[in-house]
Amino acid sequence: VHVLTVGAEVLAGDILDTNFRELAVLLREDGLSVTGHSTCPDEPRRIAAHVRAGWEEAEGVLVTGGLGPTPDDLTREGIADALGVPQERREDLVGDLEAIFRGFGRTGPLPAVNFRQLDLPRGAEALPNPVGTAPGFLAWRDDRWVAAVPGIPTEMRRMVNEQVLPRVRSHYGLPVIRRRLLRTQGIGESDLVERLGDVPDGWRGVGIAYYPQQPGVDIKLVHLGKDRKRIDERLEAAAADVKRLLGDRVYGEEGDTLPGVVGDLLLARGWRAGAAESCTGGAVAALLTSVPGASRWFDRGVVAYANRAKTELLGVSGELLAAHGAVSEPVARAMAEGMRTRHGVDVAVATTGIAGPDGGTDEKPVGLVYTAVATPAGTVCRETRSPGTRGHVVRRTAVNAVNLLRLSLLREAPVG
Ligand code: ATP
Ligand code: MG
Repeated sequence: VHVLTVGAEVLAGDILDTNFRELAVLLREDGLSVTGHSTCPDEPRRIAAHVRAGWEEAEGVLVTGGLGPTPDDLTREGIADALGVPQERREDLVGDLEAIFRGFGRTGPLPAVNFRQLDLPRGAEALPNPVGTAPGFLAWRDDRWVAAVPGIPTEMRRMVNEQVLPRVRSHYGLPVIRRRLLRTQGIGESDLVERLGDVPDGWRGVGIAYYPQQPGVDIKLVHLGKDRKRIDERLEAAAADVKRLLGDRVYGEEGDTLPGVVGDLLLARGWRAGAAESCTGGAVAALLTSVPGASRWFDRGVVAYANRAKTELLGVSGELLAAHGAVSEPVARAMAEGMRTRHGVDVAVATTGIAGPDGGTDEKPVGLVYTAVATPAGTVCRETRSPGTRGHVVRRTAVNAVNLLRLSLLREAPVG
């Protein structure tokens, strides 16, 4: 496969060509090889030339971008040229377009410009786009194929996975391929490999790949065969094995996020959370509130940077601070407990540490962080040592704190 990303903005360096990167991974996982990649401007002649050049070395060309309704979206024109056919208005697709507009909450006649999106190269198979106005298409010239999908990454991803690859695979008689994603936190890639290295039966034929997400590692299970139901059963068995071996290190699957999972756990318990932060300076609250609808379970955050702030806002005693120092387990615990009691939240997470680059000592080096979570059942605290720059330490600590919150919630059964 040759991958062609169309777009003046890509060529100008204004947007990074993440579509190519994603497609390269996707195609490789599917067992298809990428023979080349090019980017061209939104000009029909250039697009046609790139498609033809792609056919010189590959069975097919996968094109992203330029399927929108505006006059600068010219991929349909370019591909029709490469195929040597005219464009044809696909009246049979008007209904789909109307449905998409209704889904967006728009009434009245369709905007005239959008009809351009239905002018596909003659003979092309339209590929339905469930989330956008532009249909994609797949067309053949002799034994070579070309497929076009929109440039918007969410649409591109979905259409390549659901429309393009299954058709191309079935044309070449390639087996059906299915994937399952498991997301982990709190275990490094090498430990994961070690734990899962000794794979039980049932696994046979299921491929496993690790994708570090910094921090956190995604595990992708891949299986292929002829019978979709059988593949899914095997994947299900393998996923169950991974969950059993990794326990609560698996926080979710495809589409889940760590703060989103925490939000669901809080909602299930009818609890509200708060964050008391020193070294993270608000990063924990920012991570939690990155979830849409967080107001249903996140109450407030306090950034208590100076000792005086820890005392005034969280009730951490001067004696405790003097005896142990601000970066210590007793202070982290007191911050979380103070947040809980003083601010009336059900659960509180607290961070205190040395983000660097200065301020470290032999006893308390840069990267040393204490994270505590206070719940109605008690308080837990963890000491971690993170390498890296100030930014790394803050980001990693925020994720660790949210993960500790998750683990604490898991240990307390939901009410009702
Ligand atoms: P639209 O209907 O929005 O016009 P389109 O199919 O015409 O969709 P483009 O106009 O090429 O697609 O791109 C739309 C947006 O998708 C771009 O502004 C950019 O944000 C994103 N995009 C396009 N191509 C790429 C790419 N190669 N990598 C990453 N993002 C891309
Ligand atoms: Mg466009």
